[in-house]
Amino acid sequence: MTDETVFDQYPLDQWKDPEHRIMDRFSLKGKKGFVTGGAGGLGRNTAAAWAEAGADVAIVDLPSSKERLEALAAELSERYGVKVVPLYCDVSDKAQVDALKESLVDALGTVDMAFINAGVNVPGDDADEPYEVWKKTIDINLTGAYMTAQIAQHIMREHGHGGSLIFTSSLSGHNANFIGGGPSPVAAYGATKAGVYEYARYLAAALAPYGIRANAVSPGYVWSGIFEGRITPEGHDMMVHPVPMHRFGTNEEIASAVLFLASDASSYITGTNIQVDGGYSVY
Ligand code: NAD
Repeated sequence: MTDETVFDQYPLDQWKDPEHRIMDRFSLKGKKGFVTGGAGGLGRNTAAAWAEAGADVAIVDLPSSKERLEALAAELSERYGVKVVPLYCDVSDKAQVDALKESLVDALGTVDMAFINAGVNVPGDDADEPYEVWKKTIDINLTGAYMTAQIAQHIMREHGHGGSLIFTSSLSGHNANFIGGGPSPVAAYGATKAGVYEYARYLAAALAPYGIRANAVSPGYVWSGIFEGRITPEGHDMMVHPVPMHRFGTNEEIASAVLFLASDASSYITGTNIQVDGGYSVY
């Protein structure tokens, strides 16, 4: 006979324990994770944030990024004293994603968190886009996200522990971005970004019994490298005009949100989306 009730699981004032430190909840010490699109702006900065927080990280990108990825992995492991490995995979190719599952377990032992982030915005993605543009966008941004999330959650379940899946959605998954009087070329792109968010919501419900959380971040305009050389200062001003903060975001501002969602600091958050967009979405 015990006096314990169901209510005893809810500690009221954990800070009263002299050993308790809430900042420990933001640590990723001992955790293992992978980041797709790891050579790109958001991916490599999230990998750096996770490594600084104590995790071993696999940075995953296309085979064509080998030189950049190898140098990046060496720099991050040296700087943060954790294991950082480069792995190569086209996320739209099922055989390569299946092989990635094995490489991840070989390299890291397991996977506690995955940043499902590889993505493209293909030129010509407008109302009359050709089939090829639509298909490539769906194959990489949506089917690629599905396949890489699948290997992550299967590793977590096979190894009998929970984890965190974080998907990169976008401002464009929520609206058509009427900049300068017309919609941006994000027809299929926006559809995939709305799709990954809804997929995260489904997985949140389906995988909660396994201790696996699934969330999304929706970046607004982020100076990740993809705009460099592609827009003029006038174009910049036009783009930030409807953003309440009147500026682009930085890679680190996305990485911070992804670090939070990967860590135990967000342990009661699943099935949600964090807009990191300088307030664009409030209009
Ligand atoms: P980026 O181009 O720097 O990074 C994207 C990375 O994905 C690249 O390294 C690229 O090689 C990789 N990639 C592309 N196709 C791939 C494939 N088939 N398999 C594996 N890797 C592949 O751009 P970023 O800004 O860092 O974008 C990261 C994510 O953020 C993307 O999903 C993008 O759609 C999304 N996003 C970016 C912004 C922004 O303003 N930068 C805004 C909203 C959403």
